[in-house]
Amino acid sequence: MNGSNVFDIAVVGGGIIGLSSAYKIVLAHPDIRIAVLEKEEEVAMHQTGRNSGVIHSGLYYQPGSKKAGTCAKGRRELLTFAKRHRIPCDICGKIVVATEERELATLEMILQNGVDNEIEGLEEIGPGQIKEIEPYCEGIAAIRVPSTGIIDFAAVARKLADLVEKKNKANRILTSHKVEGFDRHDFYTKVRTDQGALAAKYVINCAGLQCDRVAKMDNVAPEMKIVPFRGDYYELTDEATEKVRGLIYPVPDPSLPFLGVHFTRMITGGVECGPNAVFSFKREGYGKTAFDMGDTIDALSYLGLWRMFMKYWRSGLKEYARAFSKKLFLRQLQRLVPSLQDSDIRPCRAGVRAQALERNGNLIDDFRIERQTNSIHVLNAPSPAATAALAIGDHVNELATRYFKL
Ligand SMILES: Cc1cc2nc3c(=O)[nH]c(=O)nc-3n(C[C@H](O)[C@H](O)[C@H](O)COP(=O)(O)OP(=O)(O)OC[C@H]3O[C@@H](n4cnc5c(N)ncnc54)[C@H](O)[C@@H]3O)c2cc1C
Repeated sequence: MNGSNVFDIAVVGGGIIGLSSAYKIVLAHPDIRIAVLEKEEEVAMHQTGRNSGVIHSGLYYQPGSKKAGTCAKGRRELLTFAKRHRIPCDICGKIVVATEERELATLEMILQNGVDNEIEGLEEIGPGQIKEIEPYCEGIAAIRVPSTGIIDFAAVARKLADLVEKKNKANRILTSHKVEGFDRHDFYTKVRTDQGALAAKYVINCAGLQCDRVAKMDNVAPEMKIVPFRGDYYELTDEATEKVRGLIYPVPDPSLPFLGVHFTRMITGGVECGPNAVFSFKREGYGKTAFDMGDTIDALSYLGLWRMFMKYWRSGLKEYARAFSKKLFLRQLQRLVPSLQDSDIRPCRAGVRAQALERNGNLIDDFRIERQTNSIHVLNAPSPAATAALAIGDHVNELATRYFKL
């Protein structure tokens, strides 16, 4: 091992969480040598580059939870970061729209939650005000959330990668480096990759859809498994984009961890509709029929998955039907924008969420980060983790500073 592949810290995963963590450590400890190891040719190729691009306000998260705290803090930091580094973003606001009487109680609960989370400017509005904001949207009541915005999270990740390398000449963002295992020695860990090995005193696992597997390489047996949920998006055709001005969300089903298909004006242009949420037979598979034998056997041999299927089979089947039927997907969208026609939408892309699942079939709602003697493992960082990334990075830095004695 020569000097160029010896580091203090190896971060596994070049998504927004790995890069935010590296960035925050570099800011706090400029002399620390960090390598970020990313298996793809570029950073942000998975969740970070395939999400809705929404800067969440923190409306839905349980007051006092890590999600609520880091979302609020991360959001503020993200806006400052974007301004400083000239990354385009737009605080365009959103509305969460109830279309049926039975949704009103949930809408009230969400509003109260938002108030408890001290989200600024929340307002309950009626059908007339909904029309003023979104002329094509029909609803009986809504919450207006002025602090929600849009950004390109992949652009944020690329800037973070840039800064990590610039802050210390010894730091490296090593793309096309897949981590395959760790050999622990007394004073360092040999990190084996498909491009050879490097040495690091400490390891930080931010491997997203693969984080439970990377944890196992470190002999950690996490009490969870990652379950991949694919989300398909449609986009509005050029002629139909006038039907949506900003962000329109439905009232989410409180028993599910996802927000429901919504309309999102993208910072890069156009309006997307989605994502749905279907169990995926491949962790990093973006086609509707994507399949990986290893991933499938791994998932189906986990008792928690069967327990989850038993709990959510009804909504799961509906989501599957919608995934394969444009007509059903459109019907879902028409609940918010009834004038939308089949010719107004076309399929565009998909993302896969890494959702941690416990053996008892519970989907873990809050962020989960575990620490070992010489390693930190980010084991659950679903939405709004992109919004919260810089605050999650602070937390990882605090753990590293304290327990790695940096
Ligand atoms: C469809 C969808 C919509 C979403 N919408 C939003 C939203 O609007 N707002 C929001 O705040 N959040 C949103 N999220 C959530 C957000 O995108 C994620 O929480 C966030 O991107 C997680 O970042 P990450 O770095 O943990 O994961 P990732 O971006 O997936 O990064 C993990 C990286 O680890 C790498 N890796 C894995 N294994 C290895 C290995 N062995 N060796 C080397 N590298 C490895 C992967 O290649 C990957 O690049 C959404 C997510 C999805 C999927």
